[in-house]
Amino acid sequence: MDTGNPIIRAWLERAVAVLDEHAAELNELDRQIGDGDHGSNMLRGFRAALTAVNDEESAAENVRNVGMALVSNVGGASGPLFGTYFLRMAGAWRTSSTTADVAAGCRLGLDAVMARGKAQPGDATMVDALLPALESLEASARADIPLPDALTLAATAAEAGAQATAPMLARRGRAAQFGEASIGHLDPGAVSAALLWSARNR
Ligand code: ADP
Ligand code: MG
Repeated sequence: MDTGNPIIRAWLERAVAVLDEHAAELNELDRQIGDGDHGSNMLRGFRAALTAVNDEESAAENVRNVGMALVSNVGGASGPLFGTYFLRMAGAWRTSSTTADVAAGCRLGLDAVMARGKAQPGDATMVDALLPALESLEASARADIPLPDALTLAATAAEAGAQATAPMLARRGRAAQFGEASIGHLDPGAVSAALLWSARNR
């Protein structure tokens, strides 16, 4: 058995609990500037991801299983994007990681999400939560901040990034069709990305 698997499973269990707690709120955010399914999509996908983790495979293979489960089960635009994040990160996964290792994995994941979804920072998408988390991790790596503290700081940065989507004009996904009417609304995918970052601290 790979010793990384219990860490992955524990995080996914907390992620499912957090998404369950916030599913209605995420659906409501998505109802305002989309089709109202984002919370249900994420909960379904992360439940599937949890069942995809098994002890016959390595932690890196299980991170890949998580990505595949999200691509196939979240549905909606966010599934392939969150799935891509984990699929790309899986290749760089190490069981015993430093802050710099995790930052490097998150950099690969985010680059792949931006390549696939074509969202830039400021377009009011999940990128606006994932990027501040990454930048926080990279700053922590440079400052030799140990991983547990670095992850806490990154979660705070993701939450601030999600809140900062409110005044933005949505330029990608379904919300972009709302044009100026998207201004003043939090982006659901950015809020769920921040919730996923916060899941480890619960
Ligand atoms: P759908 O819009 O297909 O119903 P969801 O409601 O599950 O899918 O997810 C919507 C979220 O997906 C948005 O809030 C946004 O964060 C994210 N998203 C949509 N399109 C893109 C994109 N091109 N790049 C990055 N994120 C995107
Ligand atoms: Mg939706």
